[in-house]
Amino acid sequence: MDRKEKILELIQQGYDNVKALSQYFGVSLMTIYRDVRELEREGKIVRKHGELRLRTEEELKEEKKDVCAYCTKAVDRRLEFIYYLKNRKIKACCAHCGLLLYKDIKEDEVEACMTWDFITGNPISCYSAWYVVGSSALPCCSPSAIAFANREDAEKFAKGYGGAVMDFEKAVEGIRDLMKRGQRVGIDIKT
Ligand SMILES: [Zn+2]
Ligand SMILES: [Zn+2]
Repeated sequence: MDRKEKILELIQQGYDNVKALSQYFGVSLMTIYRDVRELEREGKIVRKHGELRLRTEEELKEEKKDVCAYCTKAVDRRLEFIYYLKNRKIKACCAHCGLLLYKDIKEDEVEACMTWDFITGNPISCYSAWYVVGSSALPCCSPSAIAFANREDAEKFAKGYGGAVMDFEKAVEGIRDLMKRGQRVGIDIKT
C-alpha cells in the first residue's frame, strides 16, 4: 500500500489533520501536505479549515456523472472545458458553456482551467487560448465557441467558418452578447 492509500485509511480512522499524519509516518509536514494536496486534486478528500475528511458517496457520485455543469449535456472529451477549483472541478461540455460558466465561478477560487486545442488535441490553458466565437461550425453548443492554442490557427479557422477571434476575456463577453442577440431574434420571429 503506498502512503496515499494509507492516508485515506487513516483519515477514515480519525486522523483528520496533516500534523497527526506526519507524526504517524514520521515524515515532515511538507511531505504529508504534498500527499494531501494530491489526494485533494484527485477528489478523494476534502480539506476545510485544516481538517481532513473523505469525500462522501454523494459527492463522488456527483463527480462521476460526466455532464456539463451548464447545460447538463454529456461531456465529449475532445471539447471539454474544465475549471479546477480548490477542492473540486467543474466540467463544461465545450467552450461555449465553459465561457458562460465563468461569471458564476468566483475567480479567486479557480486554480486552473484547461481545454483542448481544436486542431492538435493538445491540452491548453483556457486563459491563454484563442477562441472563434459564433462560427458556422457547431461541434457542440450554439452559438459555438472553439478553442485554439494559437491565434493564427483561430484566424485560419474563422476564415473558413466565420465567427470572430477573441482572447479569453473577450470571448466571455462575446458569447454572452451572442446569446442575448439570439434571444432577441427569437422574440422578433414570434411577434
Ligand atoms: Zn454544456
Ligand atoms: Zn457544449
